[in-house]
Amino acid sequence: MRIASVSAYLARAEMIKPFRIAYDVITSAETVFVMIETRDGIVGWGEAPPAPKITGDTITTIAAAVKHLAPRLEGLDPTEYWRVWRTLNKELRHNTAAKAGVMAAVLDIAGKAAGLPTYKLLGGWVTEFESDYTLSLDEPEVMAEEAREWVGKGFKVLKVKLGGPLSKDLERVKAVRDAVGPSVRLRVDANQAWSLKEAIVLARELAELGVEMIEQPLPARALRDLAVLRASSPIPIVLDESVHDATDALECLTRGACDGVNIKLAKAGGILGGLEIGHVVKAARAKLMIGCMNETKLGITTAAHLVAALGGMDYVDLDADLFLKKEPVKGGVERDGGTVRIPNKPGLGVEVLEDELEKL
Ligand SMILES: [Mg+2]
Repeated sequence: MRIASVSAYLARAEMIKPFRIAYDVITSAETVFVMIETRDGIVGWGEAPPAPKITGDTITTIAAAVKHLAPRLEGLDPTEYWRVWRTLNKELRHNTAAKAGVMAAVLDIAGKAAGLPTYKLLGGWVTEFESDYTLSLDEPEVMAEEAREWVGKGFKVLKVKLGGPLSKDLERVKAVRDAVGPSVRLRVDANQAWSLKEAIVLARELAELGVEMIEQPLPARALRDLAVLRASSPIPIVLDESVHDATDALECLTRGACDGVNIKLAKAGGILGGLEIGHVVKAARAKLMIGCMNETKLGITTAAHLVAALGGMDYVDLDADLFLKKEPVKGGVERDGGTVRIPNKPGLGVEVLEDELEKL
């Protein structure tokens, strides 16, 4: 089996409402889909979501990266997916979103060719798990109301976006806790917004409120401060923006800067990069988390296959498709409240509505 062509498409989704975090407001859900076709006509799809402030990738650079890679991938065998991964990294530095899209499409094809769901091809088995729902950064009462709504929809875990100042962040978490009661698991994500001093105080207060974990409290490169914070924090510190690949994970863990790592396909360059991080984290006996960018169910389902392949994770934050009103895909993960299930279909199990895409 040989790759015949690799193409990039613009995929537009509609958001229900803008989504706010400490350093950004997301109002549009434009993303890139990668399509790979083999010479014998098997088609695979993958998502390459832009995240300019995190990975540096925009729709334009993703399209250019896919075009650059296409002739270098043509003729390769998608069932030799580790070889494809090595080729990608040899031929092009960075551009991790484009690589994530390519690798998802390659593993979609490899699964289809084997007649197996992609996670099974990778030896995975955990096909059902709980995801959180993320509360956009807002006034405490607005966040509390949204928390009530999503717990009512069957979510047992909420991720609360924070962004300072300290007193306001505490008010936010208190309002959410009061709204949902003690049984709902809460985790917070500061998206690099706090200072070390603030974070030391907040970690204790948040522990009192039953918060189970703090994600990225300090700036991405502040590893020394993160190690100081971690030593004093009663609850685990998980790093997201600090960790893009397995090398970052190894550095953060060996420096004692965190208790766990948040893997995102768009940072890691896709499923195999995610597996590499996962193995480093497991070797360190640290906690595994998966997150997502602003992306559709194609990317979310791909990430779910990685969760299954790694035997489950401590924290799952796969909710981006819930913020969308309309997206150009069908199928993919099934949801029942916060429970996510991977369909038992060959490949990724996502159908792309090609008519709704625009060639890049
Ligand atoms: Mg995060």
